[in-house]
Amino acid sequence: MADKQPLDFPTWLAALKKCRRCGLCETRTQAVAGEYRENPMIFMLGEAPGGREDQEGRPFCGQAGGILDDFLRLAELKREEVYISNVVKCRPTRPSNRGIYGDYANRKPTAEEIKTCSPWLELELRLLAPKLLVTLGGVPLSYVMGGSAAVGRYHGQVFYWRTHNVWVYPLYHPAALIYDASKKEAYEQDVRRLGQMCRDLTENPQKWQALLDDKQ
Ligand code: SF4
Repeated sequence: MADKQPLDFPTWLAALKKCRRCGLCETRTQAVAGEYRENPMIFMLGEAPGGREDQEGRPFCGQAGGILDDFLRLAELKREEVYISNVVKCRPTRPSNRGIYGDYANRKPTAEEIKTCSPWLELELRLLAPKLLVTLGGVPLSYVMGGSAAVGRYHGQVFYWRTHNVWVYPLYHPAALIYDASKKEAYEQDVRRLGQMCRDLTENPQKWQALLDDKQ
C-alpha cells in the first residue's frame, strides 16, 4: 500500500469547502478560511464568519477589513505576517427580516457547532504552525482554554498552549469596541505590546525558543 501523503493546505481547504458535518452548511454561501502563509508570525483567531465574509469567502473583509488595517497599523505589522481564520468556518445565522445579507442575521456559534467544526481548526493550526496565536474575543479564548474564559480577565497576558506549542495572546474582539468604547484604550495598548512582542520574537528567536523548550 502506498504511504499516506502528508496533508497540505490546498487539500485541507478543498475538503473544508465540501464539509456538511453540521447544520450551518444549510444556510452558508461557503465555508471561510484564510489565505495561506507559511509559518506566519501571527494566526488571528476570530469567532465565525459574518455575512460579508460568507459572501466573499475571505475572513475580515468589508467593514471588518478596516478593523484589520487599524490592528496592523497599531502593531506595526505587515499583512503578509498575519493569517486570519475563525473557530467555526461557516456563518452561524438566525432568521431575521432585518438581515443585510439575505434573510438572516449573525449569531454566536453553539457549543455543539464549535465542537463539530473543531477538527478543521486543529488541522489548520498544525498546517500553519504560527509563532503566536492571537484570540479575538471570548469564543476563541474559551476554545483554547478548554472552558468558558472572560477576555476582561486575560486580555494582553501571553500564555503557552501546549497542544500546539504556541504562545497565545488574548485580545478583545475589535468589533466589541464599537459597542463598548471603554475597552478601546486597553485594546490599543494590548495591540502595541503585541507588536513589540512580535519584534522581540524576530530579533531574539533563541530566547523564545528556550522558553518554549522549558515549557515542553
Ligand atoms: S461549520 Fe464547520 S463543521 Fe459545520 S459545515 Fe461548516 S465547516 Fe463543516
